[in-house]
Amino acid sequence: MTSAAVSPATAQHGSHPRKIWMDGHLVDPADAKISVYDHGLLYGDGCFEGLRGYGGRIFKLDSHLRRLEASAGHIRLKIPYSRTELADATKATMEACGMANCYIRMVVTRGVGTLGLHPFKCPRPGVIIVVDTIQLYPHELYKAGMKVIVAKRPRIPVSCLDPSIKSLNYLNNILAKIEAIDADVLEAIMLNTDGDVSECTGDNIFAVKNGRIHTPPTSAGILHGITRQFVIDELAPALGLPVDERRMQLDDLYSADEVFLTGTAAEIIGVSAIGDQTIGIGRMGPTTARLESEFRRRISEGAPEN
Ligand code: PMP
Repeated sequence: MTSAAVSPATAQHGSHPRKIWMDGHLVDPADAKISVYDHGLLYGDGCFEGLRGYGGRIFKLDSHLRRLEASAGHIRLKIPYSRTELADATKATMEACGMANCYIRMVVTRGVGTLGLHPFKCPRPGVIIVVDTIQLYPHELYKAGMKVIVAKRPRIPVSCLDPSIKSLNYLNNILAKIEAIDADVLEAIMLNTDGDVSECTGDNIFAVKNGRIHTPPTSAGILHGITRQFVIDELAPALGLPVDERRMQLDDLYSADEVFLTGTAAEIIGVSAIGDQTIGIGRMGPTTARLESEFRRRISEGAPEN
């Protein structure tokens, strides 16, 4: 790409030039550069969050900032800003970009160090906030349901690198995503090394059977998804739908009435088929539709930030 090429990050939004928040300053995208000695780049040493702005409010902002802190804590990285400072910085970036509805990427890198793994030779973590748009899956799939596959590659075991850490090292997910792309679908279900269902490459997974909702427990080795928790704690109870967090096998998905995925970017999307096997009615099922419209209703009332 030449320097004159317009990338999404440099594209203007309305009359607002795009700005990136970097280490305490709002800078032009062309000036938002990180060092080749940053361990985030060299080793995937760091963590991140994907958040979403709806009408100027940031959905579950507090939960995202807590999860970022938890991820950083797991890898013994101290974020040099408080939650309030990060929240203010994010809002300021949205305002500078003139984007009330947006996808937000918050990245914390280990920072600049030497050409060795030693993380504590990096004196100061780098923090980046990018505000942009996202359309993860085509609009029409939200009614039609999405085809997925089961990846051959298992999810990385908790004892190796706990998937609850949203680290900058996403190669396990990316390799499974490549399996999905090779199979001409957009998402892959990942099993853990015990053969239980864990999650997808970038989404959590749920099944509906006889009016009950089931989802793998956090012990299955998953990212503790914020949309997943919203379904469990708020959306399903509001609709009188019981939720069980329990170990799940692939057969639980194949025999389900409905399967759906959740994520900040995906929101709530139904699964129409897993490989060659049609799921339920082969499109977004009625329970998924109820959850999805309750989700939409709450967002339109003002996305909860807590
Ligand atoms: N699992 C993985 C591996 C993810 O990367 C994500 C986020 N894209 C999710 C699940 C969904 O989590 P959340 O609802 O917090 O976006």
